[in-house]
Amino acid sequence: MKDFAAIGEADIIEGVLAEFSQLAQIPRPSGHEKEVSDYLYRLFTDMGCRVIQDEAGNIIAALSASDGWQTKPLTVLQAHMDMVCVAEDGIDYDPLHDPIVLVREGELLHAAGTSLGADDGIGIAIIIYIMKNLSVHGPLRAIITTDEESGMTGSRNLAAQHFQDVKYLINCDSEDWDMLTVGSAGSGEISFVRPYFAAAYSEPGTAYTVTLQGLKGGHSGEEIGCGTANAIQAMAFCLDFLRKHLAGFQLAALDGGRARNVIPGRAEAVFFAEETAEAVEELLDEAFEHFMGIYGDTEQKATLVLSQTAAKAECMDAETGNRLIDLLICLPNGVSAMSQLCPGMVESSANIGVAVTDTVQHELMVQYMPRSSRGESIREYYARAEALGSLTGFKTALGTISPGWQERKDSRLAKIMQQIFEEQNRRPMRVSSIHAGLECSWHLQRNPEMDVVSVGTNNNDIHSPKETLELRTIAPQVRLIAEALQRLD
Ligand SMILES: [Zn+2]
Repeated sequence: MKDFAAIGEADIIEGVLAEFSQLAQIPRPSGHEKEVSDYLYRLFTDMGCRVIQDEAGNIIAALSASDGWQTKPLTVLQAHMDMVCVAEDGIDYDPLHDPIVLVREGELLHAAGTSLGADDGIGIAIIIYIMKNLSVHGPLRAIITTDEESGMTGSRNLAAQHFQDVKYLINCDSEDWDMLTVGSAGSGEISFVRPYFAAAYSEPGTAYTVTLQGLKGGHSGEEIGCGTANAIQAMAFCLDFLRKHLAGFQLAALDGGRARNVIPGRAEAVFFAEETAEAVEELLDEAFEHFMGIYGDTEQKATLVLSQTAAKAECMDAETGNRLIDLLICLPNGVSAMSQLCPGMVESSANIGVAVTDTVQHELMVQYMPRSSRGESIREYYARAEALGSLTGFKTALGTISPGWQERKDSRLAKIMQQIFEEQNRRPMRVSSIHAGLECSWHLQRNPEMDVVSVGTNNNDIHSPKETLELRTIAPQVRLIAEALQRLD
C-alpha cells in the first residue's frame, strides 16, 4: 500500500499543483465547459477508468477496485469543473479564451488579476492526484460536474444510475481545510413583475436621484447573518419616509442589486417632488439617521447621496410606485430563524437581490431568494410572496425549489473523517451545516441512502480577483481523503 503519510508534504503539493495548472490552461467559465470536459474525459481514460461524458458535459469516471478490495463499498469523489471568471478593473481578460495565469507567492497561490478557480479546480486536482497515486483501493467513481456556479444544472441533470449502489460520497467543494460540512440549505427563486403607466410629471416639481451606496453586500447565504443591510429594502424604507413627508412625491425608478443570491450593496431611486433640494436633503438626513440607528455598527461606509436630475420628465403612475414601495418594505428580508440543532447557524433567510425599473418596457421587476435547511420553510416563503404579490398587484413567478441537504446524525463517513483528521492533525475537525447550496443535495435526491460529506482546502475570497489558495492546506486534505478511502467499509 502506498501510504500518503510517507509522501512528503512538498511532493504532495507539487503533484496536486501539476494537475491544477493543467486545468488553469483551459478556459472554463460556467456554461462553457466543453473543452475542459473533453480534457477530463481523456485524462480519466488514460488513467484506466471507464468514463462517461453525459449530455450535460458531466464526467463520470469509474476506477475498478484493486485485487482483493472488490468488496469495499463504492465511493464517489466529486467536484465541479466550471469556475466564476472575474478580473480586476483594467485587466485585459477574455474568460472564453484566456488561460488563468498562476502566481505563487510564498504560502499562497493566486492568479494574475483574475479569479483563480481553486473553486473548484483544486477539488478536481486532488481527486485526480489521489486516484493516480492510491495503490490499493475499493471501487471508486469520480463525478465532475458542469455549471455548478450558475445554477447547478450539471448536477441537476445527472442520471440516478450514477449514484446506484454508492455508499459514500465525498464532495470536494468546501473552502475550509479543518471544516467538515454535513448539510446545506435549500433555496427558492421568486420573481415579481408589474407593468406601470408612464406619466409625465405634471406638478411644478423637480426630479431627484438618491443613491444609497458603500454597503457591505456579500453572499446571500453565507453572509446573511452578519448584520449587513439590504440596499434595496433600505432604499424602499427611505422612499416610504419621503412619500409621507414630501409634497408631490412621485416615483420614477428604483434599481439595485446584481443577482438574486447577492446581498445588494447599492440602490438608486429617481423621484419627483415639489419641494426644494434643501427640504429634500433635510428629510434624507433624517431617513439616513434612522438607517444608521439600525446598521451603524456594520455599515460604517454607507452614504446616502442626493442629486438633481435634469433629463427625466417621466414618472410611473402613483399607484404602481406606491405598491412597489409597499412590496419591498413588507417582503421578509434577512434571517428569520436560527437553527435549533446547530447553535449559531442560520436556518431560514431571504434576500431581495435585484430591483429593476425597465423604462423602455415600462415594467418593474424584483428578484427574491429564500433559503432554508427545512423545505417546509421555503414553502412558507412562497405562500407569503404569492400573497404579498397579489396584495400589491405584482405577478409572482415561483421557481422550482432546490432541495436542502439535511444533516444525518448517524453518519459513519462523518465520524471516520473526524477521527482521521484528529489523528493526523492533533486537533478536532470542526463540523457544520452551511446556509448555502451544495451539489450534494441534488445527488441525495438521486440516492437518499448515500452517506455524504463535503471538504476542501482553504480557498479565500472565492468568486473574486482576490481569490487565493493556501498551499499548506493541500496535503492534509489529500491525506484525509486517502486514509478515509482505506478505512471505509
Ligand atoms: Zn464551488
